[in-house]
Amino acid sequence: MFRCRICGECCRGDQKVWLNPSDLQRLASHLGAAGSGALESRGLIVREAGEHDIVRPRLRFRLGPAGRSCPFLVNDLDDEGRLWGRCSLHGTSAKPLVCRLAPLARFLDLATGSEEWFEIPPVIGCPGWDEADPPPEGRPVPSPDLDPGLRCDLDGEAAYFRLLASADDEVGPGDPVGRRSNLAADAADPGRIP
Ligand code: SF4
Ligand code: SF4
Repeated sequence: MFRCRICGECCRGDQKVWLNPSDLQRLASHLGAAGSGALESRGLIVREAGEHDIVRPRLRFRLGPAGRSCPFLVNDLDDEGRLWGRCSLHGTSAKPLVCRLAPLARFLDLATGSEEWFEIPPVIGCPGWDEADPPPEGRPVPSPDLDPGLRCDLDGEAAYFRLLASADDEVGPGDPVGRRSNLAADAADPGRIP
């Protein structure tokens, strides 16, 4: 049985937290930022080529006294001097979808729309499982009982992925993949300020 220990390990280091358009809008609204361009200017997000060379926004981790960590992680020491960490977005709608779902992950078949769900440690060494029930490598689990808001966010993200995939399919030999993908990502990101 998983129980988060609030150690913050999944919010440090080289983790990449990719954001969908709804994540960007909620985060910008939460912070009173004009849009994702303002989030970029504040150094909170960065755009980077990921899978299939598609450029997408992700949280920009920063180097601090506790090493690299998410800009929304509150790092602190417990009574025994161990580092722990709390997400300052927890409990708000601005917490990115992937973070809200962890340790669950959805694998989506874009062609059929079918979903499979897995329980996956968000980082190697996540202490959220008991010794008697060690962390799974990726354990299939039944579809979770999702509230309507979360279901809506997942459907929105699926639409975003379909848009990106369709743009990727159109890229032919010699085409500038990064640029085409950028255009697709921008089209799917209504909060973007050119
Ligand atoms: S690494 Fe695991 S236990 Fe630690 S904060 Fe992340 S999910 Fe929770
Ligand atoms: S948004 Fe919160 S849960 Fe997600 S990586 Fe940052 S601190 Fe961790």
